[in-house]
Amino acid sequence: MKIGVLALQGAFAEHVAILRAIGVEAVEVRLPAQLADVDGLILPGGESTTMRRLIDRWDLRQPILDLAARGAPLFGTCAGMIVLAREIDGGEEPVLPLLDVTVERNAFGRQLDSFEADLAVPLLGDTPVHAVFIRAPIILRAGPEVDVLARLEDDRIVAVRERNVVATSFHPELAGETRFHRLVALMAAEHADPGEGIGRRPHPTRRQRREG
Ligand code: GLN
Repeated sequence: MKIGVLALQGAFAEHVAILRAIGVEAVEVRLPAQLADVDGLILPGGESTTMRRLIDRWDLRQPILDLAARGAPLFGTCAGMIVLAREIDGGEEPVLPLLDVTVERNAFGRQLDSFEADLAVPLLGDTPVHAVFIRAPIILRAGPEVDVLARLEDDRIVAVRERNVVATSFHPELAGETRFHRLVALMAAEHADPGEGIGRRPHPTRRQRREG
């Protein structure tokens, strides 16, 4: 099982480091051919306008859409989340419209360029996630198929999942937070080998165990 990190621009090295630290094979992706044998893809933070330009220049749009259509997990952080959004407030064309959300870029304005917060993310357990926000986007609207994973204290949505696509407004990789990457690795393992996946095979009932 191998996870790619889109390495065109931005904070990709930190994602590669986190994946390797949790024992997952990670590969930097710059060319369409490198997507052929990955079981998941991380889209890092950076600058979404630049990322959009580079995705098009290197013909990565369709191969990434194909990877998602095969069911491989995609995880976008910050600019990566903007790239995955179906709608960008203000009317910019979407890049990879895989996530049924509307995002607002640079939603915290100049006064609050960057900040950190501890967020409850029940899916990842009781310990809060230490989240680093840098010129971060916010999710203004999440569609009916989208699970909200985390909100700020004022209720604004900052982490979501829709089937095989996960996205956060913030950078978990800059705070040494590994649980989002572990989640994506589990999803990738499931995609790579559905037969062995967690939750796929029901636990035997007591009677089956007794008889079996
Ligand atoms: N403000 C950036 C954008 O709109 C995102 C910032 C980030 O990824 N840290 O693309």
